[in-house]
Amino acid sequence: MADAHTTEQVQARASMEATRLHRALDTQFDGPVDVLGIARSLDLVLMMQPLENLLGFYIRGEEQSGIVINSRLPESLQRFTLAHEIGHHILGHEGSTDDEHTVDRFDPNSPLELAAQAFAASLLMPQPLVTQALRDLPATRQSRRLAPSDAYLFSRQLGVSYQAGVWTLYRNRRLTLADARLFTKQGALAAKNALRGGEPLGDARADVWALTQENNDLSVICRIGDEIHVQLPEDTSTGYAWLVREPSTGGLFDAAPSTALIWSGDDAIELEEPAGTSGDGLASGPHEPIEIVYDEHLRGGPRPNGVDEPQPALFIDDAGTNADLFPSGGGVRSLTFVPRGEGDSRVLLELARPWDIQAPAQDRYQLDLRVRAKQLAGQGLFAPPAQAWVDEHMVGA
Ligand SMILES: [Zn+2]
Repeated sequence: MADAHTTEQVQARASMEATRLHRALDTQFDGPVDVLGIARSLDLVLMMQPLENLLGFYIRGEEQSGIVINSRLPESLQRFTLAHEIGHHILGHEGSTDDEHTVDRFDPNSPLELAAQAFAASLLMPQPLVTQALRDLPATRQSRRLAPSDAYLFSRQLGVSYQAGVWTLYRNRRLTLADARLFTKQGALAAKNALRGGEPLGDARADVWALTQENNDLSVICRIGDEIHVQLPEDTSTGYAWLVREPSTGGLFDAAPSTALIWSGDDAIELEEPAGTSGDGLASGPHEPIEIVYDEHLRGGPRPNGVDEPQPALFIDDAGTNADLFPSGGGVRSLTFVPRGEGDSRVLLELARPWDIQAPAQDRYQLDLRVRAKQLAGQGLFAPPAQAWVDEHMVGA
């Protein structure tokens, strides 16, 4: 059994090894750590298999070492398990099989597991990335107490589970112990439902991004099928509204898909051929990778719970009131985007007059989306053929 002093030393050393590995690999901290890429660069054989009671395991071989991850896990847990197994490899441990007891919590009675766990945490949540994610939080910019939605956004920015994100916020003194316990007890689904103001629109496991004005120009690394909710103040009595410039179809103020009808302000209706449209009216441009699945102007802004229709809770402060934010009876524009294809794309909104395209925009809002396929969740990603390798190495295991 490790005493407290040894426990700290074990963790500190493992954490240092993770930092050293990042340095050796020249990791760029501009998004969630590419743990799969790290495993590949270490020449580890990787496999996804449906496993009964294990999260994953690590096998040290003479010629080659390998890692198997349970393909049934949520991606965040797969990432954490993979980072944990890389820890066993880098720290020179012999093979290890890991269930939720070794990967999911700190066990002071097992120095090796403790080390692998500390390694995984430092590998996935290096300080530069944590610092950046903390800076990106709306709560940081608004100097207010963190809400579960902040913890959720934070965990998404790091590509870790909600629980791991919450405890990292606690370790960085951004959450009290009582709040961290409350947040983890309520869970990620509660945070997600609070963010979107109701039950999932589609896949309950899809990640939910809840973004506001504070997140303008954010670079979002998301996955196909994620829900990206954007809420921006919009006072329609001023004549200005948020126009969706990209993606180019589907916004509230969008006209017919093939031909835009634009009122120029002097009673003349102009027909304008949108870019990427051929003469026969059929869209010939590139496939739109971002779909708008929800677009409404909410008068008076989102309200505290208790009203009939579900209302996202982004603008509600701790006291449950948003009166100060919308003093003149304005409202909020609520949009939900869902990426449908891989690659880089962008959401671009402009606060302008819908009927006067000549007038300059008052404001703009942009998100750069880097859309990935679900990285680890599938099977058949890895070479060499998994079964042959398991047969060879796992006899009698
Ligand atoms: Zn382990």
